[in-house]
Amino acid sequence: MSVLESIHVGGVWRTATSGGTREVLDPADATILTVVAEGGTEDTDAAVAAARRAFDEGEWPQTPTAERAALLRRVAELLQRDREDIALLESRDTGKTLEEGRVDVDDVTAAFRYFADLVMNESGGRVVDAGSADVHSVVVHEPVGVCALITPWNYPLLQASWKVAPALAAGNTFVIKPSEVTPLSTVHLVKLLVEAGLPDGVANIVTGAGLPVGQRLAEHPDVDLFSFTGGLVSGTKAGSAAIAGAKKVALELGGKNPNVVFADACATEEGFDTAVDQALNAAFIHSGQVCSAGARLIVEESVKERFVAELAARAERIKLGRGTEDGVECGPLVSQQQLEKVEAYVASALAEGAVPRSGGKRPEPSAVRPEGGYFYAPTVLDNCHRGMKVVREETFGPIVTVESFSTEDEAVTLANDTEYGLAGAVFSSDTARARRVAARLRHGTVWINDFHPYLPQAEWGGFGKSGVGRELGPHGLAEYRETKHVYENLRPAPVRWFAG
Ligand code: NAD
Repeated sequence: MSVLESIHVGGVWRTATSGGTREVLDPADATILTVVAEGGTEDTDAAVAAARRAFDEGEWPQTPTAERAALLRRVAELLQRDREDIALLESRDTGKTLEEGRVDVDDVTAAFRYFADLVMNESGGRVVDAGSADVHSVVVHEPVGVCALITPWNYPLLQASWKVAPALAAGNTFVIKPSEVTPLSTVHLVKLLVEAGLPDGVANIVTGAGLPVGQRLAEHPDVDLFSFTGGLVSGTKAGSAAIAGAKKVALELGGKNPNVVFADACATEEGFDTAVDQALNAAFIHSGQVCSAGARLIVEESVKERFVAELAARAERIKLGRGTEDGVECGPLVSQQQLEKVEAYVASALAEGAVPRSGGKRPEPSAVRPEGGYFYAPTVLDNCHRGMKVVREETFGPIVTVESFSTEDEAVTLANDTEYGLAGAVFSSDTARARRVAARLRHGTVWINDFHPYLPQAEWGGFGKSGVGRELGPHGLAEYRETKHVYENLRPAPVRWFAG
């Protein structure tokens, strides 16, 4: 198989300087999809140098806002032109269903359009009252410089777009390093940026591993901003290296997200059906490999048994298979490593007393589930408590743990008892109660009677160890900017502080 020229530096597509390669596997059957370049330190240094040159000497940082916004809109059009191809690429690379891939492309398109609109609607600088008619004082925003963008494997293109779109809208140059497990859609995105007319050196990509490529980006003295989405352990390690060089740092890390269901939400058949359906979606979409997955079901004791029985029955009926097959609702896990991690979590949960109500094993191969694929059955674990590893840690798999409560205070205490704080939900038919609980949840996004929706115009990120900073919304643009105060004396005169 020929090697994809997946490294793009200074406008040139190429393979790795060392000749290194990596096989990208199809998680549905473990066959080789593509062989990509495995970049190293020299490729990373070359990419940073290209981005540095394009920032210091190139036209992009000075390009008028309207032109930058127009380019982002062209990218949005190209994404829609290639929608089906990209969805297929993402589905085959990550294992997610084709339909999820399509939703991702639409969300990515929306992110590019949002940041184009956002910069176009700005007034350009904030005049500050300096207390004197002889002074004109204004606060302006400028690009940060060279951005290093590191992304994970669960939403490769979406996570890339939350960084690339605001970085470009603000006038920066960048080097992106996608996850080594799922690099393909990000390579395609950089091709679209080039096609849209982005000058050489503004967008660079190095495919390769966290060590050395990601770590080198974190440490590189010519990188001004380090923006990372991924796990807590690698994120804090890389973030510390970036901070040591006094870079701007943004970290989007993991989550262990509570889904609180009050009995009143289940008082009618319709309410019950909705709450169960949402709990299913919260936990199992993309086989639970979602940073905001509702992996902790916290349900009121009086409805718990009925709720869990129905949830488990529906979990058993989820159609698991290759994401590109018609009718499949859930794909495989992304890798053998991820599959083994999920199995270890289930084993530890059972050892600690959890009771499996569905799943808890690899499913049998079938017409849509090839032998060798990384499939794991949607798993509902009853009888869980906060002391368990499976409740405390992010499993990033199709596992939902069940805890119960009797009072509102208890529900809030349970929901906030996590080192993370990315997202959470409350289901209740009592609006006052739902809002009261939402106000007490220490999570960056709180849904009331819903799970998972996000908006490009609303900030995304976490309390606690879910991260540092925010993506999306105005804050998601501000992260890619420096703030400068320009103080202009309109009537210069000596100050005579010193007599001489
Ligand atoms: P990961 O931390 O293993 O890898 C993420 C990226 O970091 C990859 O590109 C990897 O190569 C790179 N990396 C690894 N070690 C590095 C190092 N020392 N220095 C620099 N880069 C390094 O995460 P993953 O398994 O790819 O993704 C899953 C994680 O991502 C989960 O924890 C999930 O919650 C998180 N995530 C968070 C959000 C969010 O918005 N908060 C969104 C998606 C995923």
